[in-house]
Amino acid sequence: VSVKKSVNAPSTDSITRSYGKTVTTLALIDEEFAKLSTTEILNTFTGKSSLIPTAATLIITPDHLITQWKQEICKFLPGVYNQTGEVLMITNYTMLSKLSVQAFLNAKIVLVPWSIFSNSLYLNQLALLTALPAPKVQDVGRESKAWLEYALDELPTSVKLLRESASIRDFASSMKAKLDIRMNDSDFQATVPAKRLKGKAYQTAKSKKQTVRNPDLANERPKGEIVGLDGNNAKSFKFLSRPLFHLFKWNRLVIDEFALVTNRSSLLLSSLARLEAEKRWVLSGTPPLDDFHDVKSIAKLIGINLGIDAFSPGALSNEKAKGLRAELSSAEVFQSFQETRSLYWHIQRYAQARKFLDTFVRQNNAKVDHIRTTTHLEPVRLGASHRAVYEELSLYLNSVNMRERDCSKSTSDREERVSRSVQNCSTAEKALLRSCAVFTADGSVNEFKDLINVRKGQLENLKVDLLNELQIAERLNKKDGDPDAKYKRWQSEPAGDHDAAKVLQNYIKRARKRTDMTRPDRKNTLREKVLDLRRLSRELTSRIRSLRYIQTIHQLQQYNLGYSEGHEAEKLCSVESCLNLVTRPSDLRILSLCGHIICKDCLNGKELRDTCVVEGCAAELDQYHIKTLDDFGQEENMIDGKSFGTKLDTIAELLQNVENDDQAILFVQDDDLIIEAKTCFESRNIPSLPLLAESSGEQAKDVIEKFKSSTKQKVLILCLDSEHATGL
Ligand SMILES: [Zn+2]
Ligand SMILES: [Zn+2]
Repeated sequence: VSVKKSVNAPSTDSITRSYGKTVTTLALIDEEFAKLSTTEILNTFTGKSSLIPTAATLIITPDHLITQWKQEICKFLPGVYNQTGEVLMITNYTMLSKLSVQAFLNAKIVLVPWSIFSNSLYLNQLALLTALPAPKVQDVGRESKAWLEYALDELPTSVKLLRESASIRDFASSMKAKLDIRMNDSDFQATVPAKRLKGKAYQTAKSKKQTVRNPDLANERPKGEIVGLDGNNAKSFKFLSRPLFHLFKWNRLVIDEFALVTNRSSLLLSSLARLEAEKRWVLSGTPPLDDFHDVKSIAKLIGINLGIDAFSPGALSNEKAKGLRAELSSAEVFQSFQETRSLYWHIQRYAQARKFLDTFVRQNNAKVDHIRTTTHLEPVRLGASHRAVYEELSLYLNSVNMRERDCSKSTSDREERVSRSVQNCSTAEKALLRSCAVFTADGSVNEFKDLINVRKGQLENLKVDLLNELQIAERLNKKDGDPDAKYKRWQSEPAGDHDAAKVLQNYIKRARKRTDMTRPDRKNTLREKVLDLRRLSRELTSRIRSLRYIQTIHQLQQYNLGYSEGHEAEKLCSVESCLNLVTRPSDLRILSLCGHIICKDCLNGKELRDTCVVEGCAAELDQYHIKTLDDFGQEENMIDGKSFGTKLDTIAELLQNVENDDQAILFVQDDDLIIEAKTCFESRNIPSLPLLAESSGEQAKDVIEKFKSSTKQKVLILCLDSEHATGL
């Protein structure tokens, strides 16, 4: 319904590709001025508005893009727009205090960063102009939004009064009088107790009612006063100083990279949505169109409400739902969980969103054929030990359904190793990405043999612990007996792996022979020891498998090398009864969970079994556990000593081959990887500029300027989904 209503409205929503949207916008602004005079433009305005009409275009950009806009204006519109006052670049609120309404009537383009709209001084001035108590600055939620909406509703009345007033002074005093009345009006005073009071305290508070006033919540007068630029005697509203952007009806409103506004703050979104303009354009190279909510946010900026927020699972990402719920009251949050909308209702909404997009959204195809681009794919094969570590992590994360566990409680060594790699990664997928991108392996594990030795060491350490605990258990068994037969039962539990079972039986025998080695604590009971033993035997299985897996990969690689040199066939299959001599390494499969090698014949048709085909092995058999030798690359070739993993090494090599003045941009997934990449490039003497996603708009501006101004900076490292990556 809303869409239909607005089709007649002269608003345009133009989303162009990142390339050239600035130029296109400037060209269209200039074309209008070439055809029409300022007065003629004002005559084209439709609809009634009490606000001050201006033929200027208001361009609102992210902080880091404002200089770029200014440069493009100077570059593409040099003749016309270099006169003073035609282009106003207002980078902060202080600059606004040196301007009057007249400045915006003279201007053709007004360029502002969006941070100005959330400046507390801007809101303070809005309070002065609408005779309202000052907003509570620290609150960015719903209360502020309500205040803002109220103030903007009042603004046209104020503007009308301003234009009718004989002088700025007259207007200032009538606003002051209005504010005086309001400050004493109970409607404009907060009387809510700050704490929730119960029982007697509540009764007392209730009887006093109006006297319970929380000083934090009491409204304050806005600071300062309304002034004119050349004294307050000025006879025209045009001399009003600190003219807010909301006072005007603009010829054109351009919001650049609107996607960043919509996910920044809903207060900012509301503020921008309430700017009045004859034409509204919102620009983005990469508009978010994931769900209804995204489209709704675009629509809001051009003054269309597509409907209410809906929280049904699946209709909205968890993150977005969380953000939206943060602004609801407890009762509303409760209601939002109860919500039951039909599928049809959602389908209708999507249809409406699509209709909106079809009507208002355009994508410009930039004509950039003359710029030659080539796509060059550089396949990277991870080194064998890197690959093995990655596979191990992948195996683990898949086994816990890509959910991390609480690291502090992890008892398994494998889990601990994994949690070390998962550290600082918010999701399991990120941990995997990082694991395949970077491989520094603690400095010590640089070669496959080292990795095998580390695994062997881990296994031996565990065996020492195991023997220790077994001896204590045996002693306790002799002394107090085994009342619930728990210890006995544990001994007959399957270990899940034939090698682990052998080690266990062997160690139990050894422990029985010598019980004088370790003395149990007085507090120890056999029952507790059994719990420890169960944990250790599980861990034993896990470590034996880890070691076997690594050894298997190594063995097969060696065999593969020998095979290509014409060595004789060997029996490699782990199945005992199998007599196959392997002639082709490609006939073998490695099971990543237990490290067993299975030949083609033994696996044939058994992929659907639950467990490994090797006798005594209870490892689960799953499609993604079955690997071929091709899955593992060759041993890493060390490049100049230190390797950061094949991927980063290859990137560094490519960058070293970038010719003299050419520069490169590297996109990576997150800030950690930016730092890893920088460290790698530093060690290769490649000058690089990292731009972390968490840096401020100001910092980003500096880094980008530095990169553009010096070709010495070979590479700019950006985070894929950070806002700094937009609009470059
Ligand atoms: Zn076999
Ligand atoms: Zn197995």
